[in-house]
Amino acid sequence: MGSGETLRLGEELKPFRERVKELSGEDVGLCYQCGACSSGCPLTDEMDLLPSTVMRLVQLGVEEVLNSKTIWICSSCFTCQVRCPRGIDVANVMEALRQLVLRRKYDRVSIDILTQEELRELPQIALVSCQRKLTG
Ligand code: SF4
Ligand code: SF4
Repeated sequence: MGSGETLRLGEELKPFRERVKELSGEDVGLCYQCGACSSGCPLTDEMDLLPSTVMRLVQLGVEEVLNSKTIWICSSCFTCQVRCPRGIDVANVMEALRQLVLRRKYDRVSIDILTQEELRELPQIALVSCQRKLTG
């Protein structure tokens, strides 16, 4: 493979990584896969990918990471940000990935499918928060 082909591969990877960087303000290229974010995350039992794996996939430009359950399970608790030795705010990256999905007019939650009882019982602040954070 000539050097021109190698450069072209780099360009192909650039758009997804660049979009994540633009939205999050974080340079995932700094991640060296130490795993500190994953070992401190309180929600990994519910995730299909570890936070560090999400970071690696973004580094590699693997856009399928947007299909991961992990980005929706992340509660933005910022434990990972505190632990990261490279100063990366992983929660910001997760938020950017959610935004990329929601901008496709995707709604993660829908009030329409809730029953009258659920609407009565659920805390108003949770409903408003879900509408603001998880709808496109
Ligand atoms: S911000 Fe998200 S990924 Fe980071 S530790 Fe908290 S739940 Fe896990
Ligand atoms: S803690 Fe930081 S450097 Fe370590 S794997 Fe997570 S994002 Fe990468």
